[in-house]
Amino acid sequence: MKAIRRFSVRAVLPENLSALEEIAGNLRWSWHEPTKELFARIAPELWQQLRHDPIALLGAVEPSRLAELADDHGYVEWANRVRDDLREYLQEPRWYQSLGDAAPRSIAYFSPEFGIAAALPQYSGGLGILAGDHLKAASDLGVPLVAAGLFYRSGYFAQAISPDGWQLESYPVLDPDGLPLSVLREADGTPVQITLALPDGELHARVWQAAVGRVRLLLLDTDIPENEERLRSVTDRLYGGGGEHRLLQELLLGIGGVRAVKAWAALTGAPDAEVFHTNEGHAGFLGLERISDLVGEGLSFDQALQVVRAGTVFTTHTPVPAGIDRFDRALVERYFSTSLLPGLDVKEVLALGAEDYPGGSGDVFNMAVMGLRLGQHANGVSQLHGEVSRQMFNGLYPGFDPREVPIDSVTNGVHAPTWTDPMLRALAIERLGTDDTTHANWADAHAVGDADLWSVRNRMREQLVQDARHRVAAAWERQNPGGIAPAWMADLLDPNVLTIGFARRVPTYKRLTLMLHDPDRLRRILLDPERPVQFVIAGKSHPADDEGKRLIQKLVHFANEADVRGRMVFLPDYDIGMAQLLYPGTDVWLNNPLRPLEACGTSGMKAALNGALNLSILDGWWNEFYDGENGWAIPSADAAGDGAERDALEAEAMYDLIEHQIAPRFYDRDPDGVPSAWVRQIRHTLATLSSPLSAERMVREYVERLYLPAAEYENRLTADDFAAARGLAEWKERVRSAWPDVAVAHVDAGGVDDTPQVGDELHVRAPVRLGGLRPEDVRVELVYGRSHEGDDLTDVAVQELTVDRAVPGDEAGSAHEFVGTVRLAWAGSFGYTVRVVPVNDLLLTPAELGLVAVAS
Ligand SMILES: *Cc1c(COP(=O)(O)O)cnc(C)c1O
Repeated sequence: MKAIRRFSVRAVLPENLSALEEIAGNLRWSWHEPTKELFARIAPELWQQLRHDPIALLGAVEPSRLAELADDHGYVEWANRVRDDLREYLQEPRWYQSLGDAAPRSIAYFSPEFGIAAALPQYSGGLGILAGDHLKAASDLGVPLVAAGLFYRSGYFAQAISPDGWQLESYPVLDPDGLPLSVLREADGTPVQITLALPDGELHARVWQAAVGRVRLLLLDTDIPENEERLRSVTDRLYGGGGEHRLLQELLLGIGGVRAVKAWAALTGAPDAEVFHTNEGHAGFLGLERISDLVGEGLSFDQALQVVRAGTVFTTHTPVPAGIDRFDRALVERYFSTSLLPGLDVKEVLALGAEDYPGGSGDVFNMAVMGLRLGQHANGVSQLHGEVSRQMFNGLYPGFDPREVPIDSVTNGVHAPTWTDPMLRALAIERLGTDDTTHANWADAHAVGDADLWSVRNRMREQLVQDARHRVAAAWERQNPGGIAPAWMADLLDPNVLTIGFARRVPTYKRLTLMLHDPDRLRRILLDPERPVQFVIAGKSHPADDEGKRLIQKLVHFANEADVRGRMVFLPDYDIGMAQLLYPGTDVWLNNPLRPLEACGTSGMKAALNGALNLSILDGWWNEFYDGENGWAIPSADAAGDGAERDALEAEAMYDLIEHQIAPRFYDRDPDGVPSAWVRQIRHTLATLSSPLSAERMVREYVERLYLPAAEYENRLTADDFAAARGLAEWKERVRSAWPDVAVAHVDAGGVDDTPQVGDELHVRAPVRLGGLRPEDVRVELVYGRSHEGDDLTDVAVQELTVDRAVPGDEAGSAHEFVGTVRLAWAGSFGYTVRVVPVNDLLLTPAELGLVAVAS
């Protein structure tokens, strides 16, 4: 019999164990080992079975066991200590509190997904886990962040694999009452309701709140009786629907999210958010809601836009065009031709998302483009991705070089306390005197010997092998209820064999099946009698992506063949819980995307924090961190004729590395059985990568390089009743309308003769027509570098020319001559030009307006 309705009844704890409830109510338990130990003690097996979920545990444990613990003085004391520690953690000054008054008092962080704990499945992959790690690190650093997202009733999806290797999706319905969530309520106890006006009715949402350490996460949920039936499903699942469904989700996330943050601040007395950070373009509508607010305060659209841009940080996450949301323009038009955002003209909205540049489409509304127009502070997620993004969005800044496109980069990081195996942490505590594995002195070989490190690595591999066996058998039993799993499953994999891990979502560019390029060679590698290798693989394909599912199927078919099945497994339902055992348990973490499509990649970082070595294409983070000692680089066959050839070359290179370098080194043991060359690499990896790969480093960078400047710019614009915002809007308008008349009339040069030499000085004088602008509205620049065929410049440098005098005889008095000198610093080809760009100290870079006039 199936229930028609389901809910969770929370346990009533004995009074002197009330600390447990308080502790379970804050997700800090998910990364705080001492707290987990406290829960594990209640019922160790149940704790394992329930996959480390305190709320489920407290609901499932026998009341007699709770009564027993309530009588156990030692346990009660322990629980109270952990609770006091939590309270202290929530209150005490941390890093951010040392920054002084200029630091924003509140920052709102928006993301379509949040991966915080396996018990709260609200993520599909890297983007969500990164958001979760961002919140946790912000909490640890004391950054006053409040986060907004959606509560998806079915999360992403649960994955099973059919006997024929086909991905099967199911959508188990989550019960928020059984999760670490509570409803945000008005002072009188009624639930806060967020409402959006739609073309044909209203969309209502309730707000769930989760405590992530010091950070509050607000999740909007439309599955409430106040909504018409069809609108209850707006937040049904993550990335489930197309077009209109997705648009509704994003309207709710952006617009509803800002309203929720405001409601929360008003109710709790928290300061209003000063900086808004959107993790990927999906939440971009938040800027429109804020503009609408300011228009309500009396600003014009353009004035409000200046303020909102100044305080908005936009992080782009994908160089893959399919990863960017592009809506049907007519659809967006329909939704904004309503009272959804009072004071906003639908034309102004549409202009923000218009692809009005060469190669753009007139029929779409592009969320990334809007993100850049609404966010003055933009970044990619690794240095290489920053470069790729600057090229990708160059069209928005015509006349500027890609390197001038105002998109910076902050390389992702991962939250070490979440992703470091407790065994490695215990080693750091015992031998290095710290539980902070990112700052522990792993280089100290006296304190932590090779054998110690190796022994932990062995135990982590063993733990993974056990978990894999358990998962494979459990999956089999779910598909064959009542049957007994085949015997070979019980000794699948080998805890002593070199283990390569590969797990990620399965979009084509990640090339899940590259390893199958030459199946016979792979088979030889796996079954090598002296130096065997085993693979543990996992990953979900988007439900609509049959191509991805075929890749999974191909892999599962291979892994099911009788000779290799002991050496290669595909584990269904990749999630945080699996990942936490998978990264530490692998010796080598493999990543073979098509360069440069992996914006950053974070799984390899999590592996490295546990002493796994990376084997990866030089893409994303690996491109900036590979140093020859911390793993291996698979060369990219950029020059290959086509995709197939490229795959072939890169796969061969990968096999070669495994066969000739990785396996020999792994199996080269000293008399005590320790592979000393390998352990040297582990030690080096831990000592050099743990700190820079941590989310703590990442969040500090966001604070210092993006949040602080964003707050500063926004404050400057809002001061004195928005004086600077009004001025800036007016100035931009003036510059835009004058710009067609701005020109470099000509360029005179002197100082070098027919045979210029290094050290000579080139004097330049350029009369410039300013079209009515003042000299201080622009900067005239000498741009020079090595010149090449087609007059392209490389190694470009820029030097500002200074205004010398008004051009004699210019009636309008607006033409001026600019002069400057540059020393010829290198031999060989030299080229230069002169250009004019607008400047204003409220712009971050002159490229912002996309206006430039170049000498012709
Ligand atoms: C880290 C992580 C990812 C993202 O890994 P990438 O290397 O960025 O693809 C996806 N899923 C889970 C469960 C993770 O923990």
